[in-house]
Amino acid sequence: MRLKEHKKTLAGAAVLAAAAYSFLPSQIGKWRYLTDSGERQKNIYLTFDDGPGPYTGQLLDLLKIYDIKAAFFVVAQSAAEYPELIARMQDEGHLVGVHSLNHRSAMVQTPEQTRMDLAESVGILRGLGVNVRFYRPPWGHVNWETLRQIKKMNLTRVLWHVMAQDWRADTTADEIQYKLLKRTGRGDIICLHDGRGRDEAPARMLEALNASIPIWLEEGWQFKRLDERKGDFL
Ligand SMILES: [Zn+2]
Repeated sequence: MRLKEHKKTLAGAAVLAAAAYSFLPSQIGKWRYLTDSGERQKNIYLTFDDGPGPYTGQLLDLLKIYDIKAAFFVVAQSAAEYPELIARMQDEGHLVGVHSLNHRSAMVQTPEQTRMDLAESVGILRGLGVNVRFYRPPWGHVNWETLRQIKKMNLTRVLWHVMAQDWRADTTADEIQYKLLKRTGRGDIICLHDGRGRDEAPARMLEALNASIPIWLEEGWQFKRLDERKGDFL
């Protein structure tokens, strides 16, 4: 075999290996969320990723006004910086799940790094008094080792049905609100972000949420906590 062809074969094998290691398991997880949830009630499930951060306190204030219980998928290193917010989430009846140690994608992590990431992040949250049961991988990316570990650790992988691109620098609160109200369906898990976003993105998310909640309520939607959801998460 000529060297050039050999290199092509190697590149092809690398692409296939990457697809088998992470791309396919990630996509298969997401496809499952495209199917009908089977839920007939007007229930929706608010979830927040990438916090805690400077805006998380205001978000908790807003949820408290309407007595809405949500789920927070926190970045463990940020959780360690804001232990009082993790305590407040739990005191106020929210669910705390894990969203990795420092938001690295499983697509670029070796099995060893994947194991360490999960072990360390779950360890930090347990140290903060959280009974960790739910895991949302950053960008929804997993690899085979992630799947093996979460099974071993008895964690449930949770993705989402509705995303409103609220983390983007070039979006407005109006656009976020429009997407939220238009995209929401029965039984949907809604994914918003209270940390990490560009140019104060969580502030726009908060504005959109503040405007959307009364409309949802008027339309008869009920806010439920993720662990009240029936059926398969995967
Ligand atoms: Zn994230």
